[in-house]
Amino acid sequence: MQFESSLIGRRIVAANRRGKYLWLPLSDGQVLLGHLGMSGQLLVQAPSSPDGPHLRVLIGFADQGPELRFVDQRTFGGLWVEPAGQDPEKLPASLAHIARDPLDPRFDETVFISRLRRRRTEIKRALLDQTLISGVGNIYADEALWRVGLHGGRPTDRLTRAQAAGLLVAVREVMNEALAQGGTSFDSLYVNVNGESGYFSRSLDAYGRVDVPCHRCGTPMRREAFMNRSSFSCPVCQPRPRKRKLSGPHAP
Ligand SMILES: [Zn+2]
Repeated sequence: MQFESSLIGRRIVAANRRGKYLWLPLSDGQVLLGHLGMSGQLLVQAPSSPDGPHLRVLIGFADQGPELRFVDQRTFGGLWVEPAGQDPEKLPASLAHIARDPLDPRFDETVFISRLRRRRTEIKRALLDQTLISGVGNIYADEALWRVGLHGGRPTDRLTRAQAAGLLVAVREVMNEALAQGGTSFDSLYVNVNGESGYFSRSLDAYGRVDVPCHRCGTPMRREAFMNRSSFSCPVCQPRPRKRKLSGPHAP
Protein backbone atom coordinates (compact mmCIF):
# COMPACT_ATOMS: atom_id res chain seq x y z
CA MET A 1 0.00 0.00 0.00
CA GLN A 2 1.21 3.49 -0.81
CA PHE A 3 0.12 4.78 2.62
CA GLU A 4 2.23 2.15 4.34
CA SER A 5 5.30 2.65 2.18
CA SER A 6 5.18 6.41 2.72
CA LEU A 7 5.52 5.83 6.47
CA ILE A 8 7.97 2.96 6.71
CA GLY A 9 11.36 4.09 7.98
CA ARG A 10 10.22 7.69 8.61
CA ARG A 11 10.38 9.54 11.88
CA ILE A 12 7.51 11.67 13.21
CA VAL A 13 9.24 14.93 14.07
CA ALA A 14 6.39 17.04 15.53
CA ALA A 15 2.67 17.10 16.28
CA ASN A 16 0.53 20.06 15.20
CA ARG A 17 -3.12 20.95 14.99
CA ARG A 18 -5.23 23.34 12.96
CA GLY A 19 -9.00 23.35 13.39
CA LYS A 20 -10.19 19.76 13.39
CA TYR A 21 -7.06 18.51 11.68
CA LEU A 22 -3.85 17.13 13.10
CA TRP A 23 -0.65 16.88 11.16
CA LEU A 24 2.55 15.10 12.07
CA PRO A 25 5.53 16.28 10.00
CA LEU A 26 7.69 13.34 8.90
CA SER A 27 11.46 13.22 8.48
CA ASP A 28 11.16 13.06 4.66
CA GLY A 29 9.29 16.33 3.98
CA GLN A 30 5.82 14.83 4.00
CA VAL A 31 3.19 15.11 6.71
CA LEU A 32 0.87 12.50 8.17
CA LEU A 33 -2.46 14.28 8.24
CA GLY A 34 -5.46 13.22 10.25
CA HIS A 35 -9.08 14.14 10.78
CA LEU A 36 -11.04 12.45 13.54
CA GLY A 37 -14.41 12.98 11.84
CA MET A 38 -17.32 12.39 14.19
CA SER A 39 -16.04 9.35 15.99
CA GLY A 40 -12.33 8.90 15.29
CA GLN A 41 -9.86 8.39 18.10
CA LEU A 42 -6.09 8.71 17.89
CA LEU A 43 -4.75 6.65 20.76
CA VAL A 44 -1.30 5.92 22.16
CA GLN A 45 -1.42 2.33 23.39
CA ALA A 46 0.95 -0.40 24.42
CA PRO A 47 1.63 -3.04 21.75
CA SER A 48 0.03 -5.58 24.08
CA SER A 49 -3.38 -3.79 24.06
CA PRO A 50 -6.09 -5.70 22.20
CA ASP A 51 -6.82 -4.50 18.65
CA GLY A 52 -10.58 -4.04 18.99
CA PRO A 53 -13.12 -4.19 16.12
CA HIS A 54 -12.77 -0.54 14.99
CA LEU A 55 -8.99 -0.35 14.69
CA ARG A 56 -8.28 1.20 11.25
CA VAL A 57 -4.57 2.06 11.37
CA LEU A 58 -1.83 0.82 13.66
CA ILE A 59 1.57 2.54 13.56
CA GLY A 60 4.38 0.79 15.43
CA PHE A 61 7.76 2.33 16.20
CA ALA A 62 11.30 0.96 16.03
CA ASP A 63 11.74 1.26 19.81
CA GLN A 64 8.93 -1.30 20.32
CA GLY A 65 7.27 1.29 22.59
CA PRO A 66 3.64 2.49 22.56
CA GLU A 67 1.84 2.39 19.21
CA LEU A 68 -0.17 5.12 17.55
CA ARG A 69 -3.60 3.73 16.77
CA PHE A 70 -6.44 5.23 14.79
CA VAL A 71 -9.77 3.80 15.88
CA ASP A 72 -13.01 4.84 14.20
CA GLN A 73 -16.48 3.36 14.63
CA ARG A 74 -18.07 5.23 11.76
CA THR A 75 -15.11 5.83 9.44
CA PHE A 76 -15.85 9.48 8.71
CA GLY A 77 -12.34 10.39 9.75
CA GLY A 78 -9.06 9.29 8.29
CA LEU A 79 -5.29 9.44 8.05
CA TRP A 80 -3.37 10.23 4.90
CA VAL A 81 0.01 11.55 3.72
CA GLU A 82 0.57 14.87 1.94
CA PRO A 83 3.56 17.05 1.10
CA ALA A 84 4.59 19.40 3.92
CA GLY A 85 4.21 23.15 3.53
CA GLN A 86 7.15 25.56 3.43
CA ASP A 87 6.45 27.41 6.70
CA PRO A 88 8.17 26.48 9.98
CA GLU A 89 5.17 24.41 11.09
CA LYS A 90 5.04 22.60 7.72
CA LEU A 91 1.33 23.34 7.35
CA PRO A 92 0.09 21.29 4.38
CA ALA A 93 -1.55 23.31 1.58
CA SER A 94 -4.92 21.67 2.15
CA LEU A 95 -5.16 23.33 5.59
CA ALA A 96 -3.92 26.78 4.59
CA HIS A 97 -7.45 28.27 4.60
CA ILE A 98 -8.12 27.29 8.22
CA ALA A 99 -7.46 30.01 10.81
CA ARG A 100 -5.51 29.35 14.00
CA ASP A 101 -7.46 28.52 17.13
CA PRO A 102 -7.44 31.09 19.95
CA LEU A 103 -5.21 28.94 22.19
CA ASP A 104 -2.54 28.75 19.49
CA PRO A 105 0.41 30.87 20.69
CA ARG A 106 0.58 32.46 17.23
CA PHE A 107 -3.10 33.44 17.11
CA ASP A 108 -3.17 37.17 16.27
CA GLU A 109 -5.69 38.84 18.54
CA THR A 110 -5.66 42.27 16.89
CA VAL A 111 -6.16 40.82 13.43
CA PHE A 112 -8.98 38.60 14.66
CA ILE A 113 -10.83 41.51 16.32
CA SER A 114 -10.55 43.69 13.22
CA ARG A 115 -11.64 40.91 10.87
CA LEU A 116 -14.57 40.00 13.13
CA ARG A 117 -15.81 43.59 13.23
CA ARG A 118 -15.50 43.95 9.45
CA ARG A 119 -17.73 40.93 8.81
CA ARG A 120 -21.38 41.54 8.04
CA THR A 121 -22.80 38.50 9.74
CA GLU A 122 -24.07 37.34 13.11
CA ILE A 123 -21.61 36.79 15.96
CA LYS A 124 -22.28 33.09 16.40
CA ARG A 125 -21.91 32.39 12.68
CA ALA A 126 -18.58 34.22 12.79
CA LEU A 127 -17.38 32.17 15.77
CA LEU A 128 -18.12 28.95 13.89
CA ASP A 129 -16.41 30.15 10.69
CA GLN A 130 -13.07 28.39 10.68
CA THR A 131 -11.59 30.75 8.10
CA LEU A 132 -11.85 33.40 10.86
CA ILE A 133 -11.18 31.36 14.00
CA SER A 134 -10.96 27.59 14.43
CA GLY A 135 -11.63 25.31 17.36
CA VAL A 136 -14.89 26.94 18.42
CA GLY A 137 -17.87 24.65 17.96
CA ASN A 138 -21.54 25.06 18.80
CA ILE A 139 -21.06 24.25 22.49
CA TYR A 140 -18.13 26.58 23.21
CA ALA A 141 -19.72 29.39 21.18
CA ASP A 142 -22.90 29.21 23.30
CA GLU A 143 -20.90 29.13 26.53
CA ALA A 144 -18.75 32.14 25.57
CA LEU A 145 -21.76 34.17 24.40
CA TRP A 146 -23.57 33.46 27.67
CA ARG A 147 -20.53 34.60 29.67
CA VAL A 148 -20.34 37.97 27.93
CA GLY A 149 -24.12 38.41 27.78
CA LEU A 150 -24.37 38.68 24.00
CA HIS A 151 -27.01 37.05 21.82
CA GLY A 152 -25.44 35.06 18.98
CA GLY A 153 -27.64 36.86 16.46
CA ARG A 154 -26.03 40.24 17.15
CA PRO A 155 -24.40 41.73 14.05
CA THR A 156 -20.59 41.53 14.10
CA ASP A 157 -20.18 44.99 12.55
CA ARG A 158 -22.00 46.57 15.49
CA LEU A 159 -19.65 45.09 18.10
CA THR A 160 -17.36 47.55 19.81
CA ARG A 161 -13.68 46.71 19.94
CA ALA A 162 -14.08 46.12 23.68
CA GLN A 163 -17.01 43.73 23.16
CA ALA A 164 -15.06 41.79 20.55
CA ALA A 165 -12.03 41.62 22.84
CA GLY A 166 -14.23 40.51 25.76
CA LEU A 167 -15.79 37.81 23.62
CA LEU A 168 -12.35 36.50 22.71
CA VAL A 169 -11.39 36.40 26.41
CA ALA A 170 -14.56 34.39 27.14
CA VAL A 171 -13.89 31.98 24.25
CA ARG A 172 -10.39 31.34 25.60
CA GLU A 173 -11.65 30.89 29.17
CA VAL A 174 -14.25 28.35 28.07
CA MET A 175 -11.75 26.43 25.95
CA ASN A 176 -9.09 26.43 28.67
CA GLU A 177 -11.56 25.24 31.30
CA ALA A 178 -12.85 22.56 28.95
CA LEU A 179 -9.31 21.42 28.17
CA ALA A 180 -8.45 21.28 31.87
CA GLN A 181 -11.39 18.92 32.32
CA GLY A 182 -10.48 16.84 29.30
CA GLY A 183 -13.02 18.31 26.88
CA THR A 184 -16.76 17.94 26.56
CA SER A 185 -17.85 14.35 26.33
CA PHE A 186 -21.43 13.42 25.69
CA ASP A 187 -20.51 9.86 24.91
CA SER A 188 -17.55 7.56 25.24
CA LEU A 189 -16.27 8.32 21.71
CA TYR A 190 -14.64 11.60 22.74
CA VAL A 191 -11.42 10.71 24.46
CA ASN A 192 -7.83 11.89 24.76
CA VAL A 193 -4.86 9.85 23.49
CA ASN A 194 -5.02 7.77 26.66
CA GLY A 195 -8.67 6.90 26.03
CA GLU A 196 -10.07 9.09 28.82
CA SER A 197 -13.32 11.07 28.51
CA GLY A 198 -13.72 14.67 29.58
CA TYR A 199 -16.05 16.12 32.18
CA PHE A 200 -16.70 19.65 30.93
CA SER A 201 -20.31 18.76 30.03
CA ARG A 202 -21.02 18.92 33.78
CA SER A 203 -19.93 22.58 33.90
CA LEU A 204 -22.01 23.97 31.05
CA ASP A 205 -23.93 27.20 31.68
CA ALA A 206 -25.70 27.48 28.33
CA TYR A 207 -25.41 24.55 25.95
CA GLY A 208 -28.16 21.97 26.34
CA ARG A 209 -29.95 23.97 29.04
CA VAL A 210 -33.55 24.81 28.20
CA ASP A 211 -36.39 25.84 30.55
CA VAL A 212 -34.00 25.60 33.49
CA PRO A 213 -32.88 28.67 35.48
CA CYS A 214 -30.02 30.77 34.11
CA HIS A 215 -27.02 30.31 36.42
CA ARG A 216 -26.69 34.12 36.62
CA CYS A 217 -30.21 35.56 36.83
CA GLY A 218 -32.56 32.60 37.30
CA THR A 219 -34.65 33.25 34.17
CA PRO A 220 -35.59 30.04 32.30
CA MET A 221 -33.08 29.46 29.47
CA ARG A 222 -34.31 29.32 25.87
CA ARG A 223 -33.47 27.21 22.85
CA GLU A 224 -33.51 28.66 19.34
CA ALA A 225 -32.95 26.99 15.98
CA PHE A 226 -29.54 27.75 14.50
CA MET A 227 -28.06 26.32 11.28
CA ASN A 228 -29.81 22.91 11.65
CA ARG A 229 -28.76 22.84 15.28
CA SER A 230 -29.78 24.69 18.43
CA SER A 231 -28.53 27.72 20.31
CA PHE A 232 -29.06 28.04 24.04
CA SER A 233 -29.14 31.41 25.75
CA CYS A 234 -30.73 33.46 28.53
CA PRO A 235 -33.56 35.76 27.38
CA VAL A 236 -32.62 38.37 29.99
CA CYS A 237 -28.80 38.25 30.00
CA GLN A 238 -28.66 37.86 26.21
CA PRO A 239 -31.48 39.90 24.66
CA ARG A 240 -32.12 39.35 20.95
CA PRO A 241 -30.79 42.15 18.77
CA ARG A 242 -33.27 44.68 17.52
CA LYS A 243 -33.91 44.48 13.81
CA ARG A 244 -31.89 46.96 11.82
CA LYS A 245 -33.94 50.09 11.23
CA LEU A 246 -34.51 51.14 7.66
CA SER A 247 -33.35 54.65 7.03
CA GLY A 248 -33.84 57.14 4.23
CA PRO A 249 -36.92 58.70 2.62
CA HIS A 250 -38.69 55.39 1.91
CA ALA A 251 -38.46 54.01 5.42
CA PRO A 252 -41.87 53.36 6.95
ZN1 LIG B 1 -29.66 35.19 32.78
